[in-house]
Amino acid sequence: MFHELIPREFPQVEPAEIERRLNQYLECEALLKQFFRQVDYCRPNCITQSISRYSKKDEIPGIVGCCSDDAYMEKHNPSVDFAPLEQRRRLKYGLPENQESEIQGIGRKPCRYHTIEGCVLEDYKPPICVSYVCGDFVVYLANTFGIVYDWKNVCETMANILDGQICGAELEKFKQQLNIFVEQTKTRKEQQHQDDTTHISEHLLALV
Ligand code: SF4
Ligand code: SF4
Repeated sequence: MFHELIPREFPQVEPAEIERRLNQYLECEALLKQFFRQVDYCRPNCITQSISRYSKKDEIPGIVGCCSDDAYMEKHNPSVDFAPLEQRRRLKYGLPENQESEIQGIGRKPCRYHTIEGCVLEDYKPPICVSYVCGDFVVYLANTFGIVYDWKNVCETMANILDGQICGAELEKFKQQLNIFVEQTKTRKEQQHQDDTTHISEHLLALV
């Protein structure tokens, strides 16, 4: 399903430079993770629901979400050397081992990093895994938080950070944008929580 590119030679990069790029990548990955955690869309709206595209029905109800096939192997940009990221991932998490059975009625398997708890990777995920959201999710972000999220653009930017093509002012601008997403969702969630609390208090007062 996903591209397995023919191995090719990439220019030699100094170890210190590889480290610098990886650190920048991890920093942006952490911001995206915080953003998606705060939004908390997939679990309540999709992966625990029977509407989930890859629902395993009675076995594992919908928990697979988008993580079918081996999405982590996707190398969407052939000019980017993903090897340093992959090496660090394997060093930290080992080779993907999950052997969950095929998703019923679909004939596809969950990603090998996928487990009953979800993805085992806390970091060093490939760009596609840290950035992808489906159309419904895009609409939710726009309607709930006023956020216009272009996952392809984010995915490409993450790959370019890994490749050293995005750094300096451009990188700072990207991080600033991610921080705005984090702040916007945090503020909105806090507001939602406050509204809910006020609503419950008013309801309880009306019962007294
Ligand atoms: S991105 Fe969309 S399809 Fe994928 S798990 Fe989340 S809600 Fe489901
Ligand atoms: S690596 Fe993780 S996020 Fe990516 S497809 Fe596999 S389980 Fe999903």
